[in-house]
Amino acid sequence: MSPLILVTNDDGVHAPGLAVMAKALSAVGRVVVVAPDRERSAVSHALSLHTPLRAELRSPDVYAVDGTPTDCVNLGIHGLLCETPALVVSGINSGGNLGDDITYSGTVAAAMEGMLMGVPAFAVSLAQGPFSHDHFLPAGNFAATLAQRILDSGLPRDTFLNVNVPGGCPVAVQVTRQGKRRYAEEVVEKIDPRGRTYYWIGGGELDFEDLPGTDMHAIQRGEISVTPLHLDLTNHKALESLTSWGLDAGVSTSGDAPDGDQD
Ligand code: MN
Repeated sequence: MSPLILVTNDDGVHAPGLAVMAKALSAVGRVVVVAPDRERSAVSHALSLHTPLRAELRSPDVYAVDGTPTDCVNLGIHGLLCETPALVVSGINSGGNLGDDITYSGTVAAAMEGMLMGVPAFAVSLAQGPFSHDHFLPAGNFAATLAQRILDSGLPRDTFLNVNVPGGCPVAVQVTRQGKRRYAEEVVEKIDPRGRTYYWIGGGELDFEDLPGTDMHAIQRGEISVTPLHLDLTNHKALESLTSWGLDAGVSTSGDAPDGDQD
C-alpha cells in the first residue's frame, strides 16, 4: 500500500517549491497537499486559536487553508486526511532556514508540528536563488530519497530534520548542527507620505559565523545540510550555573502564603 504523505509549506499553495516537492514525493507515496492559501513566511509555530479556519479543495488532494503552516499540519492530520500520514514534509522553501533563524521559520515549524503529532517529519529549504521551477529540482530529488529512507527505517525518537540545499548541483550531503547567525541589527527608518515614521525590519546583511560542522558551513561549500532537531530548548550547560544562584532564598519556606501574615 502506498504510504500517505502530507506536504505543506509557508510560501503558500501556489509556490513553485511546493509543486516540485509534491511531484518528487509522488514517486514515494500518495501525496496530499495542505498548505496556506497565501505566503505565511516567518510566522514560526503560530496556531490559530481565535479565528475559524477554512479549507478549500483546489484540486484532487490539494487543500488551501486560510491559516498558518502549523494550522495546516494540525488540520490535515486531525481533520482533512482520512488516515494519519506516514510522513509530514514541509517545503521546498524559497530561501535557507539556517542557524538561529530557524526559530522564525514557518517551514521548520510545520515539520515540528508533525513530530509533535507523532508523525516523522522534515523541512526542506533551497538556500540560494534563483527560486524558479528547475532550480528546486535537486532539492526535490533529495527530499524523495530522504522520504524513502525515513519510511523504511524511521527517525530517532523526538527528532525531526531540517534540510537545506545549496543552489546549483549539490556536491555532497553533510549531517550538521545548527549554526550561529551574526545579527546586523539593522532597521530601516523612513517617513511615509503623511509625514509619519515607519520602520522596516530585516534590512541588515545576512551573515553567519563560519563554524565547521554547521548547516551554514555545508551550504557555503555547496553541500546539502541535514540537521537533526528536537524541541528541548534547555541549555543543559547552564543548568549547574543557574542552580548555584540559590534562587530558593527568594521563596518563603515557612509555609505561609505570601499575604498570610495575620499578626
Ligand atoms: Mn517561506
